[in-house]
Amino acid sequence: MPKIYLLDVTNRDGVQTAKLGLSKLEKTLVNIYLNDMGVFQSEFGFPTTKHESNYLQANLELAEMGVLKPIRLEGWIRAIVADVETAFKTVPKIKHLNLSISTSDQMIQGKFQGRKTREDIIDNMAEAVDAAWAHGAESIGVNAEDASRTDLDYLIKFGLAAREHGANRLRYCDTLGYDNPFTIYETARALAENVGLPIELHCHGDLGMAVATSLSGAKGAIDGGQDAYINTTVNGIGERAGNADLVATVLAVTKSKGFADKYQLGNHIDLSKAWKIARFASYAFDVPIPINQPGVGANAFAHESGIHADGVLKDPENYELYGYEELGRGEPEMVDTGREISAGEYSGISGFSHVMGKMSVTFSGKEEANQVLELVRYANVESHKPLVEDELLFIARYPEIARKLLTLNPLG
Ligand SMILES: [Zn+2]
Repeated sequence: MPKIYLLDVTNRDGVQTAKLGLSKLEKTLVNIYLNDMGVFQSEFGFPTTKHESNYLQANLELAEMGVLKPIRLEGWIRAIVADVETAFKTVPKIKHLNLSISTSDQMIQGKFQGRKTREDIIDNMAEAVDAAWAHGAESIGVNAEDASRTDLDYLIKFGLAAREHGANRLRYCDTLGYDNPFTIYETARALAENVGLPIELHCHGDLGMAVATSLSGAKGAIDGGQDAYINTTVNGIGERAGNADLVATVLAVTKSKGFADKYQLGNHIDLSKAWKIARFASYAFDVPIPINQPGVGANAFAHESGIHADGVLKDPENYELYGYEELGRGEPEMVDTGREISAGEYSGISGFSHVMGKMSVTFSGKEEANQVLELVRYANVESHKPLVEDELLFIARYPEIARKLLTLNPLG
């Protein structure tokens, strides 16, 4: 039986969202948390974007060191040969890529304005896939942008060409969140049956259905005989109304009525990390988690009205579908209510040593402490807010990697 895998795109769709962004250290932490959770793949950034190159290379190094393992790190580029060449020049060790091109007539006409035909799109994609293999790619996904507004016969033709050129997966992008669970089921199933490749479901929330369409699309792919790769983002942060929320997707796959009897995750997802990753992303993006967010919202396990409170006290299952402990909630949190020392871009050694000492981190000597402090200052220049404990610990543990992450060469 084919399975469902999670491919998180927070570090690509999430960070390209208007008004939002993450520092390179925050992006790295997201990759680490995704790995801890058991997410199969992280679309970790843009290999053709200059300011990403040190971050991407540093994360590939973390993978080599076993820190980011077993998660697969994959970069997003356009499906054109020029992007493939730039990607391998900028990030020579990149191994996994998704190549994206618009397939709907709306976009072919609306974006390329007559410069490209449907045939050109397939040719561009095929040449880009060939080039990526030639440069040493180990896995390639091909993305059909605006697939939900693409003529199905053409989409199948596009997918078959991708398969002929050795692509490993076809990403069905519901770029505008246009699908509903009924339409995406039919399309994903038809693609799985006729193209014969695993199908990625990339769904958006413009009509409030990103998780529902992801689930239904995954069912279609599996019923059509292929693995499904659901694209998620942490807290659903993504273009416009966002993407399928990571935690809500896991909950929907594993806990919705009867679904998991037949449609299962391909590898274990540790939901107990949900609270931590959601909170970190909220802090890093500076976007509060909605009070009614599934699983991780402040009200997800709150009860007040008489009948509900009485019912849940007698037996939580009366009014809760799953337990808060499963999501890593319920631990008391320490909050300073008095004097507070934080580490920032203008910190000195004394305050910094105090902060690190509270986490039981000690340094071999003054030189090491100063070195780590300097990196913490730089990290703050990028993030403009106090670093969380895991960021400080990361810098203390991997100072050389941190140095690479924090190095930007705009004139280089
Ligand atoms: Zn998207």
